[in-house]
Amino acid sequence: MHIVCCDLEGVFVPEIWINVAQKTGIEELRLTTRDISDYDVLMKRRLKILEREHLNISDIQKVIATINPLEGAVEFLYWLRSVTQVIIVSDTFVQFAGPLMKKLGWPTLFCNSLTIGADGTIENYNLRQKDGKKKAVIALKTLNYNVIAVGDSYNDIAMLKEADKGILFRPPENFKSEFPDLPVTHNYQELKKILEEYL
Ligand SMILES: [Mg+2]
Repeated sequence: MHIVCCDLEGVFVPEIWINVAQKTGIEELRLTTRDISDYDVLMKRRLKILEREHLNISDIQKVIATINPLEGAVEFLYWLRSVTQVIIVSDTFVQFAGPLMKKLGWPTLFCNSLTIGADGTIENYNLRQKDGKKKAVIALKTLNYNVIAVGDSYNDIAMLKEADKGILFRPPENFKSEFPDLPVTHNYQELKKILEEYL
């Protein structure tokens, strides 16, 4: 029995923080783990910026509500869920993901959470567990699933390597040489083709 673990941002929807940066005009929010490799430092910096700019959870959710899935994502995910079980495994937060999950037809989501104050202030972030993506694959294997994983970035590599089959979707250029064992797909047609081989 197969199950597919898919990353969210860069696979089904655009990068959330980059969109928040664009739509709020706060350029500093564009920083990603490629600029600041320590995720804790990066998230604390983002939360400080939101505090400084007096942006609370509803402001951010309004921005996220304007983000649409990538072209073809809804149809692709609908197809995938018709042929196998799918779990979206993301580093995002449940309070951010809601509007996007609605547009994707409410797939199952494993992710992190935010601590929200009574006034809507984003007070902190909580990782559900360390290395959550990789651990999701490990756990599904113990349930006797053959796990296929799909992702686009560095935070997916441990999950892709742990899976029985790992597939890159539109990764940065250098990934081909950096991770030569992982097949690279560039669009949903290619991804569908390779998944059909494995399923
Ligand atoms: Mg991603």
